Amino acid sequence: MVNYQSDNYYIVCEDLFKIYKIADLEVVALRGLDLKVRMGELMAIVGASGSGKTTLLNILGGLDVPSAGKAIVGERNLLKMSDRDLVSYRRQDVGFVWQQVGRNLVPYLSAYQNVELPLILLGWSRKKRRQRTEEMLNAVGLGHRMHYRPDRLSGGEQQRVAIAVALAHNPPLLLADEPSGELDSQTAETILEVFRSLNETYGVTIVIVTHDIRIIYQVDRIVTIRDGRTSLEAIRKSQPDQPDAVSAEGHDEFVILDDVGRLQLPKEYIDTLNLKGRVRVLLSENHLTVWPEEGRDGDDN
Ligand code: ADP
Ligand code: MG
Repeated sequence: MVNYQSDNYYIVCEDLFKIYKIADLEVVALRGLDLKVRMGELMAIVGASGSGKTTLLNILGGLDVPSAGKAIVGERNLLKMSDRDLVSYRRQDVGFVWQQVGRNLVPYLSAYQNVELPLILLGWSRKKRRQRTEEMLNAVGLGHRMHYRPDRLSGGEQQRVAIAVALAHNPPLLLADEPSGELDSQTAETILEVFRSLNETYGVTIVIVTHDIRIIYQVDRIVTIRDGRTSLEAIRKSQPDQPDAVSAEGHDEFVILDDVGRLQLPKEYIDTLNLKGRVRVLLSENHLTVWPEEGRDGDDN
């Protein structure tokens, strides 16, 4: 699905800032975040609570507006959209799955009616609606529960309906904020498998936010956010058409170097070497080494 050869990026965020102002306080939720996502990619964003994951997803979904920087999705510039463009962007170009199972579905409508609803709002014909609704419910493995209301479905089944709702209108981008956060681990795994299968079948670009590290088995690439910036990146070594070969060891880990040369080092390395303030960076033939300000002199003597 993903073409790693081309520069066909669907999402490009550069030096992205989001600052929330509450009374006289400013909270910097994103501080110079860089992220590129290719068309058709299935990727995950992981990071501790408060690191800016939801903020980023809300911006990508057109639910929130960045303070500064660059955020391009497809042809759209998210910093320069009118309110009207934002509304049409949200309706047509993105599907959203939330963590709170209850937020995704209308409780008094059946699974079928929930999936059909956005298509009614978009003015699809009855025939096209029926075809698409049945197709999507089958795609998430709930064809046999189509006429159940959410309260008769398990949490995992409700999230699968939510995914069908999010993809009903065939958006090019699917955003999911901790979609398995409220589910037990076994069920969470089946939800991730649904994302993977939809990505393969429809080629939809999928960004999943999670703090569930098991996601590593299901996605092509994992980007870690720390303090509002992307810090680590892991890319699957094996080919996406060999899912069996995927394992935690099957990922190459990278640290992100941004356009102005900033590098965020893994916290455990910083702690281990007690790095702070100034460090020395030395160029060897084809790599760099980083030394604590003191340590380097000591080692040399
Ligand atoms: P995550 O989803 O990774 O837990 P969030 O994006 O929700 O992180 O939050 C990032 C930071 O921004 C946190 O410090 C949070 O308190 C702050 N924040 C998020 N949304 C708002 C808001 N609407 N108003 C003020 N501060 C916010
Ligand atoms: Mg969040």
